[in-house]
Amino acid sequence: MLHADEAAALQASIERVGARVAAELQANPGVAYAVAFVGNLHRGIDQTMAQAALRGEPVACRAGCASCCSLRVEVAPAEALLIAQQLRSGPADRLEQLLQALRQQQFLLGQGGAVRPPCAFLQDALCSIYPWRPAGCRKAHSFSATACQSAAAELPQDLAITLAAEALQRGTALGYRQHGLDGAVQELSAAVLQALEDDMAASRWYADAID
Ligand code: SF4
Repeated sequence: MLHADEAAALQASIERVGARVAAELQANPGVAYAVAFVGNLHRGIDQTMAQAALRGEPVACRAGCASCCSLRVEVAPAEALLIAQQLRSGPADRLEQLLQALRQQQFLLGQGGAVRPPCAFLQDALCSIYPWRPAGCRKAHSFSATACQSAAAELPQDLAITLAAEALQRGTALGYRQHGLDGAVQELSAAVLQALEDDMAASRWYADAID
């Protein structure tokens, strides 16, 4: 729970980011730019994490640790479209393999089992879409791998990192909305599968906004 002054500062940051994002989208019309622009959000979160490390607060997150890759991840439409675009430009056999994994994931989620299946993009304990992974994955951090592995209710995290990442993520969503673009988040595997199965998904998303 944030104090009133922290909540007010967060809201002000969200609005600042939102205004910048809306202005950028306004100045650079077109679906290609609107999809690629979400990469700025990702780079911003990565920089926030890197700055924390420079301050001497190295997080416990390492390649090969996939403790948080069984949790639900939500993505904005631009993030799902960016992942789909990158996957389409890669090898066809890899794309087919991932389509099968995503369909299987949807089937398992539909079954509603007690244990959530790991992310469909997780391969040999590594993220197979690491350069395009969504903000929800990038901002996840912990100072204790042990706490993550034991699925502790409270993970040791840095409030400053969390707030900076939240401001970027929610501010970006606000900017897209102010530009008229749908920013409704969806579960990661469902959103990417939908974007991969519909060749017109990106152009429809953008056209709906400017109609
Ligand atoms: S997209 Fe990558 S980092 Fe995110 S949950 Fe899936 S495997 Fe993990």
